Amino acid sequence: MYLTFDDGPSHNTARILNILKQYDVPATFFVNGYDTDFAHQMYQRIVDEGHQLGNHTYSHDYQKIYQSPEAFMKDVIKLQDFLENSTGFRPQVFRFPAGSNNQIYRRVQRENPYIMIEIKQALKEKELPYFDWNASSTDAAAVTLDADIILENTLKYASGRHNAIILFHDSAAKTTTVQALPQIIQTLKSRGYHFDILSPDSFYVHFNYLLY
Ligand SMILES: [Zn+2]
Repeated sequence: MYLTFDDGPSHNTARILNILKQYDVPATFFVNGYDTDFAHQMYQRIVDEGHQLGNHTYSHDYQKIYQSPEAFMKDVIKLQDFLENSTGFRPQVFRFPAGSNNQIYRRVQRENPYIMIEIKQALKEKELPYFDWNASSTDAAAVTLDADIILENTLKYASGRHNAIILFHDSAAKTTTVQALPQIIQTLKSRGYHFDILSPDSFYVHFNYLLY
């Protein structure tokens, strides 16, 4: 099981880290760039406590990053440099805002239909592999989804898989994700699952990409 938390740091990050520590479970955090003392503390805790600090673009601003492959990579490298300066650790894993098969670029610009293909090539050249997911906690389905529903859906989508990359969100509104997390971990542990971080040579999921 690969627990992944997107979009942090947020006011929930410390609580998530405390739960992971309590259950001795590692996770992967696909973070954005926040230049505050609090955020720098959270980046450092993620690294120091044995989790994987991953890149999720500096700005997460669709209008900006999906303009061109150059704009996208500039934002990615900005976060690489920022996190390395902050923690001493340069991220080795990446997740696309909205996933690798998103069609958001079509709303942003229409000149380059190959932008996603070109971005994937550029990520490869930077040796920054990307990771989608094959199990969703569904915590993005509402601003704050009921904790019982997050628990039920996470177990439904993750169970039975040999390897599951589970998508969660680390943002201020996702308080019920934090509430559901202990029971998710306990239940998966009781079913014999082992937890690990994503890394360049770990299990990965890539969505199919349709160009149309
Ligand atoms: Zn995101």
